Amino acid sequence: MNKYIAIDVGGSKMLGAQYDEEGQVLKRYKVKTKAHRGRKPVFETLLSVIDQLFDPDVVAMGILMPGVIQNARRVEMCSNIPFEKMDLAELIEEKYPVPVLLGNDVDLAVLGEWKQGGYTEQHVVGIFVGTGVGGGFIFHGQLYTGQGGAAEIGHMPYKRDGLLCGCGQFGCLETVAAKSGMLQLIEKERKKGTESILFDTLIPGEMFHTTDLYRAWQKGDPLARKVISKSVEALGYAVGTLNTLLRPELFIFGGGVMESFYDEICEELHEKALAHTMPALRDNVRFIRSFLGDDAGITGAYYLAKEASLGRRL
Ligand SMILES: [Zn+2]
Repeated sequence: MNKYIAIDVGGSKMLGAQYDEEGQVLKRYKVKTKAHRGRKPVFETLLSVIDQLFDPDVVAMGILMPGVIQNARRVEMCSNIPFEKMDLAELIEEKYPVPVLLGNDVDLAVLGEWKQGGYTEQHVVGIFVGTGVGGGFIFHGQLYTGQGGAAEIGHMPYKRDGLLCGCGQFGCLETVAAKSGMLQLIEKERKKGTESILFDTLIPGEMFHTTDLYRAWQKGDPLARKVISKSVEALGYAVGTLNTLLRPELFIFGGGVMESFYDEICEELHEKALAHTMPALRDNVRFIRSFLGDDAGITGAYYLAKEASLGRRL
């Protein structure tokens, strides 16, 4: 029986799983990444996760992490994990006799949602809204990464002279649409003395919980309403742009913010997206919500491992 290993390498934890041919999870293993320890110890931790899951039936591995991945083989940039400019796939293949492919976390989450959902659409754009905004493209039924790092939707310019983004630019989409940007706005309003029940739960200097924002929004809190409304406006603009530019058949919305808010805001979001789309291109596009939650990425890594077993290089 062929088996596959998928590993989600995150800044705080590494989650590995062994899958069978049909995609059933046979084993799971989780450890803390402890990224601050530096490259060698973190790489050794990754190898220890593989050791827990590897056996002679394993035929390929797929590994995901945040950052820019080149040719599904090399980590070019990675802000939370000390693997920058590392030929990670090759280094793992030196230790285990099976092919290894790497992928960006959101790219693979979109791949996982699309494959597992059994969608017939072949041109897909995924938009994941959480602390940042991540994206993934599937064109002609294949993950599209350009020369590595494509689909950085959160860093599309949105607002001239906007807030500083984690990427170093000002006014990126995620400085308005994602939690990192919402937090900046909420903190600004607090300093102005604005009243909001958000301040009952918010700890200064820390990221808020999406569930707290959702509760405040449901109660009609004006500040919660304001940040979500600005987010929907920005996302509508971005989705309209992407729709006009790429003409996909399907948009998949995921990530923590979408998981909480999608049912409430989807109508407005779709309306705005279509209003920002070139009129002749407004037909035949479908908008859906993700369904795999936190498992989307690792599921995508499983499908990536299957590609690797077929000798494909994305
Ligand atoms: Zn940015």
